[in-house]
Amino acid sequence: SASSPSPALNAAELTAERDRARRDYEELVRRGLSLDLTRGKPSPRQLDLAEALLTLPSGGHRAADGTDTRNYGGLQGLPELREIFSGLLQVPAAQLVAAGNSSLTLMHDSVVHALLSRLPGAERRWADEPRIAFLCPVPGYDRHFALCERFGIELIPVPMTADGPDMDVVERLVREDAQIKGIWCVPKYSNPDGACYSDETVRRLASMPAAAPDFRIFWDNAYAVHHLTDERVEIADLLALCAESGNPDRAFVFGSTSKITFAGAGVAFFGSSPDNVAWLIGNLGKGTIGPDKINQLRHAEFLRDADGVLAHMERHRELLRPKFDAVEAILSKELGGTGLATWSRPAGGYFVSLDVLEGCAREVVRRATEAGIALTPAGATHPYGKDPRDSTIRIAPSYPEPEELELAIAGLTVCVRLVATEKLLEAAG
Ligand code: PMP
Repeated sequence: SASSPSPALNAAELTAERDRARRDYEELVRRGLSLDLTRGKPSPRQLDLAEALLTLPSGGHRAADGTDTRNYGGLQGLPELREIFSGLLQVPAAQLVAAGNSSLTLMHDSVVHALLSRLPGAERRWADEPRIAFLCPVPGYDRHFALCERFGIELIPVPMTADGPDMDVVERLVREDAQIKGIWCVPKYSNPDGACYSDETVRRLASMPAAAPDFRIFWDNAYAVHHLTDERVEIADLLALCAESGNPDRAFVFGSTSKITFAGAGVAFFGSSPDNVAWLIGNLGKGTIGPDKINQLRHAEFLRDADGVLAHMERHRELLRPKFDAVEAILSKELGGTGLATWSRPAGGYFVSLDVLEGCAREVVRRATEAGIALTPAGATHPYGKDPRDSTIRIAPSYPEPEELELAIAGLTVCVRLVATEKLLEAAG
């Protein structure tokens, strides 16, 4: 899914293109825009779709089993909400935990607890290891990387393909290095390139030999139901495949309703083997007497069942799809066939990944910032903020109003043309 390179321009044509880009850029700066394409937040209109939550629960405070949700307890979360998300996240309800409002918190706490309390199958706590490393398919999600950096966990980049991480590389590293304790995966509509893991990739992840007995796949299924097309992409069931392959404790599955209901007041989920779930709940129980079950109850009432979740996601799609279509249309019109950039055409999720000529991404982002268009910093998609090719730019189209989005993307293409033509002329001497 990439635009094709253009026939090479001669020096005169390139100079003309550069001059045109300069004029367009001056015009862009003169407009004094103030636009933001940085983070994958739902728009206010998307949040409005779940406004009814604020009036729920309507049927009182009792859960299906009679639990008084106002009180303490129920560490694993409400069974009726776990039932709704069990199939969607491919985790048996009995092995699913419904927790607080953020799956990132659950990922963070899983790492911290693995550092401080021995994981099932581990020889020692991660804190007692001489060195810990995580594989990071790139481009990837900056907050995964920041979380690891925070705890001194080494980040090893692995290239992404259209089918997920390059499994030849992953298998070799995980087989050889017992200090590699984890891998970050966003298996569906990946952040930022929209890739979906093929069944073969999932099968290989589940079954590959690992030098570390406590190797874990951090399966961040943040976009499990976030479809943008009629094809609702399905991925293979990692947890089941791990169990079948004799690696039952390998998968940590995460998800949340952050981009289903309220980004700041949803419900997050953790799913894994019975042993891992017992390990996590044992640790969580030292920090809380139970989650916000009233929020879980109103989510269960609002979403009703898995079909209710999918129906609700259709309403998000109606708002999001035109924005992604606008991004595609503008990028195609302004950059298609120029050879100056390629980009993803995601079938779901929250991002478009724009690849500019090597060595140009930072300068494009700088130029855009100068013109009042805020972008995620170049390099954020890579461990330590370092994109060795300096070419990946993450675009988050969800939040801005359509008119603002179109202005911002059009402005971004001006910056791409300017920086790329300057770079090519420089290279041509
Ligand atoms: N994982 C990924 C891949 C994300 O893109 C995001 C949000 N941008 C999150 C996790 C955050 O999830 P939560 O709101 O549940 O903490």
